[in-house]
Amino acid sequence: MENKQTIEVSVVVPVYNEEGSVRELFSRVSGVLNRLNKTYEIIFIDDGSSDQTFNILKELSALNNPLKIIQFRRNFGKSAALSAGFESALGEFVITIDGDLQDDPEEIPNFLEKIREGYDLVVGWKAERKDPLGKKIASRIFNALSARLTGVKVHDSNCCFKIFRNEVVKNIKLHGELHRYIPALVYWQGYKISEIKVKHHPRKYGKSKYGFARIFKGFLDLVTVKFLMAYLTRPIHFFGQAGLLLLFLGFSCGTATLIYKFVFKIPIAMTQLPLLTIFFVLMGIQFILMGLLAEILIRIYYEPRGKTPYSIKEKIHL
Ligand code: UDP
Ligand code: MG
Repeated sequence: MENKQTIEVSVVVPVYNEEGSVRELFSRVSGVLNRLNKTYEIIFIDDGSSDQTFNILKELSALNNPLKIIQFRRNFGKSAALSAGFESALGEFVITIDGDLQDDPEEIPNFLEKIREGYDLVVGWKAERKDPLGKKIASRIFNALSARLTGVKVHDSNCCFKIFRNEVVKNIKLHGELHRYIPALVYWQGYKISEIKVKHHPRKYGKSKYGFARIFKGFLDLVTVKFLMAYLTRPIHFFGQAGLLLLFLGFSCGTATLIYKFVFKIPIAMTQLPLLTIFFVLMGIQFILMGLLAEILIRIYYEPRGKTPYSIKEKIHL
């Protein structure tokens, strides 16, 4: 049995109906790693495929290959598949690669070389994407927006081709479809990130698993990531600020109402001011209460699990 020390590289591959490519992908990835003389494991996560993907993988693993398979009961999505792979990965370095051969396994040595320069995560950058034009434009806009909002200066946040130090993959949680924002989540923990250009190929077999809706979902995920990065440990600052602003508007409307009534002697029923006052004050109180509720939730989340709101690089004399 291998143990943790003996595996240098884990390759994690999420696959969903990729029967056309898994065989070739396996042989090319293992070819590269054999040539480099690395000890490795290749973990395929079959994300509920309904084609022959799983059977082909089983066939390959029966030939005593360094291949491990996790089969999901149904399609849980790429984030879930990556999470399962991360959980099992034993290698000192963990590489993620798409199962559709759009990424080129020949790039693996470049990733290994780059991460040895002292990074915790190296992200691929498909400088010349071989995808339909609509997807290229959407991806450009996204990456610009996400770099701006999250502060992570990588060109291609959603590129699946990446290499991590093992510790990093054990420390990030990919809920929902947050795999698109892995660099932001990693950066947020204080890890060092770099990127390298990679070649990209058009899809040879099968078809893309994501349609047009990814634009809207991706945008909502960006809002989530931004919110989590800024306010996860201090939600009252977000809700409370909005609450205070609303209360301020409420009191202004209230004051105006009184001035109308007592100074100008105008019947206040003629204005919308009383209604606005009540609306703003109620909303303001609601927001502050929501903030307090969120503060309670976050304490329940961190304290019993012994989780810390910080990430430690090293301890000395401890
Ligand atoms: N994938 C997955 N589960 C899903 C959707 C996709 O494991 O629910 C895998 C898919 O098999 C492929 C990778 O994620 O290996 C990227 O998917 P795809 O090529 O469809 O995405 P695109 O290249 O269009 O961004
Ligand atoms: Mg693809």
